[in-house]
Amino acid sequence: MRRYNRLRRRISIADFLLGLALLMVLLATGWTARLRDLAYLSAGQIYVLAVFFYVFMLTVLNKLLGFGLDYYGFRLEHRFQLSTQTRRSWARDQVKGWLVGLVIGSVLVELVYAIIRAAPRLWWLIAWAAFIVLFVFFAQIAPVVLSPLFYKFKALENEGLKQRLLRLSERAGTRVKGVYEWKLSEKSRKANAALAGLGSTRRIILADTLLEKYTDDEIEAILAHELGHHVHRHIPKSILIQAGFTFVGFWSANQVLHYAIERLHLFEQLADFANLPLLMLVSALLSLLLLPLLNAYSRSNERQADLYSYTSIPSILPFISGMNKLADQNLAERQPSRLVELLFHSHPPIAKRIQAAEAWARNQLPVAGRQSPA
Ligand SMILES: [Zn+2]
Repeated sequence: MRRYNRLRRRISIADFLLGLALLMVLLATGWTARLRDLAYLSAGQIYVLAVFFYVFMLTVLNKLLGFGLDYYGFRLEHRFQLSTQTRRSWARDQVKGWLVGLVIGSVLVELVYAIIRAAPRLWWLIAWAAFIVLFVFFAQIAPVVLSPLFYKFKALENEGLKQRLLRLSERAGTRVKGVYEWKLSEKSRKANAALAGLGSTRRIILADTLLEKYTDDEIEAILAHELGHHVHRHIPKSILIQAGFTFVGFWSANQVLHYAIERLHLFEQLADFANLPLLMLVSALLSLLLLPLLNAYSRSNERQADLYSYTSIPSILPFISGMNKLADQNLAERQPSRLVELLFHSHPPIAKRIQAAEAWARNQLPVAGRQSPA
């Protein structure tokens, strides 16, 4: 379990560093200007098309460079018997993932440079506003457009569970738009559940691997946790926080670009898209700095959702047994070091989640019908 998690962590760190290295090499060697010239040439000097070709080449380079690590990650899941995915299906997912990245990446980059050309002084402010609209848009379409590219979903059929969720959400004074079964077993042996979407696409998704092996009481506890995210409006709040960070990001990017143009004379103008690696570098470094903060925020949301879960079901026992099952099934680290938790974990360690539930139950006055562990 420790070894698996250590290796997973190393893969994601190496992947991040590799991406960073690519951007720095492009900038330091001036190859970004050659890529731009190549893009212009292939695009017949049409700016918008050239931007697209440039993004295309960048995503290809990035994919090729990270391919070894991606494949190692795939092998790792198999080595620890966590994956059921064939090599062919994995390869298909890689191509799809690259295509989705290319489409979303081109839209964002085209937008940024169109805004830079139209409003060179206030571009960073306008681009920030446009990105927020896009965040909301992507959060909304993700469960109906993006996720189905990789997994199958269908409405939950278990009538008993559906009734339980309805009762839970009625008590919460809210309505969830749907509960879906997520066919995770085609690719993985892990179990998972999530709240996804926004507005009319908001839904709870439950992996079939979870529905198979957990008791109805345990699934209800997990549903209640997801409902807790919903009741506390965690998705809109996260978008707001993201908006704050993106504001800082665009402001810094503007400063850095001006410095690179006016002081270092690396580029002639803002609209020269050869400066894209610099923009990406600013955003990557800022994300790295903010990651511990974002993770801390996410952990506090998870604690809130946990609390909501065991206060809205009759007993904390299925919450605890569900947590234990999840930890075993997903090879989760029950008690990572404090440092690892602070830097990498978006969820509190399972050991702490269980301790919190037990502490809460101990502090409750004995209520008729409520079971609590001795
Ligand atoms: Zn959660």
